[in-house]
Amino acid sequence: MRAVRLWSVRHSRFLETAYDAFSSLLGILSPLLRLVPRRAMEYPVAAIERAAKGLVFDCHMCGQCVLSRTGMACPMNCPKNLRNGPCGGVRANGNCEVEPNMPCVWVQAWSGSQRMRDNDAIMNVQKPVDQSLRETSSWLRVTAQAAADRGVSMEKSA
Ligand code: SF4
Repeated sequence: MRAVRLWSVRHSRFLETAYDAFSSLLGILSPLLRLVPRRAMEYPVAAIERAAKGLVFDCHMCGQCVLSRTGMACPMNCPKNLRNGPCGGVRANGNCEVEPNMPCVWVQAWSGSQRMRDNDAIMNVQKPVDQSLRETSSWLRVTAQAAADRGVSMEKSA
């Protein structure tokens, strides 16, 4: 819902803190999570992620979440699906050229990012969406990557 996602951008710092705490918790739980086959976790975790992030960010479940790098504004809500923005069509009032009543998602992303601790992350060029990851859990992907960075594999044979 647009009003909620605009709230998320205004409270990006709070959500950044909440997200960091959540990631740390998943990291702590990762030795336990390793006991469950990844395939068995995918469906329930993706369902919870879809419901929670759908409400707060109008998440489209692209599978490669960049919220922490785009000021808690999901770029999938950009009518042009720009992964790096804004486009050249932002209106003088900061609204979108395609949807004149909607604040430009990327203008929102920049404003949200400036409230965050990591306010430079938005400067990093984002990779295009890998469509094969759609509807999969970014939470599990981030947890697996964090575990891998610590030299721990999250994969377990079924
Ligand atoms: S104005 Fe903003 S939201 Fe609209 S298409 Fe351009 S970048 Fe996307």
